[in-house]
Amino acid sequence: MIELLTPTQLDEMRPAGEFVASVLTALSEAADIGVNLLDLDALAHEMIRERGAESCYIDYHPSFGAMPFGKVLCTSVNDAVLHGLPHDYQLQDSDLVSFDFAVSLNGWVCDSALSVVVGTPRAEDLELIANAQEALDAAIGVARAGNKVGDISAAIGEVGRSHGLSVNTQFGGHGVGRTMHGDPHIPNDGRPGRGFPLQPGLVIAIEPWFLQTTDEIVMDPDGWTIRSADGSRGAHVEHTIAITDGDPIVMTARD
Ligand code: MG
Repeated sequence: MIELLTPTQLDEMRPAGEFVASVLTALSEAADIGVNLLDLDALAHEMIRERGAESCYIDYHPSFGAMPFGKVLCTSVNDAVLHGLPHDYQLQDSDLVSFDFAVSLNGWVCDSALSVVVGTPRAEDLELIANAQEALDAAIGVARAGNKVGDISAAIGEVGRSHGLSVNTQFGGHGVGRTMHGDPHIPNDGRPGRGFPLQPGLVIAIEPWFLQTTDEIVMDPDGWTIRSADGSRGAHVEHTIAITDGDPIVMTARD
């Protein structure tokens, strides 16, 4: 079922988005050489407790998950790109790490992700992150009433292809509301003018992710962490946005 939120409900959702943004900012500042992924998860968990929010991840147990996720944060390092399960690993110089984070606050969920480089950046990693960000910006640019989900998908796919990337469509964006994952599904490639019509009050998470030299993925034995099949690195960016009569509201915008 697709729920359209009233302007009042969209206002009620804003604190969740602001909080998710603040946690991602804190994580990107804390991510440094020698910092353990488990400590970053603990930092996010502490911020959740202080704010009185509820993690969307810790008890998350979808059909593809071997067991409940058990952490509040996804940490995907280097050739991992999605759903990285935090584990005992200290970040190293030039690591590329993607954080994906979602909470419920006052009954409303927001979901957002970013990629950062630790220490000395590799040029190709910065470029991959910039490409993912360009795709997200392009997608938000067409996230307007009167357009269709396919316009968002096509915008992401076009940016990926323009940079010579092949785009995986197995995991993409989704509706967001009182729960983390709802309809419509937002594939990261598609045909413009097709699919569910965007309309005021529709809230969606848009989440382009790219791999450097493949679109094939493999899952770790942990049952969660998704990596590139060829060892090339990945970048992942995401915002929760609301369609309005005019410009979309980027709920999870960071300063
Ligand atoms: Mg997310």
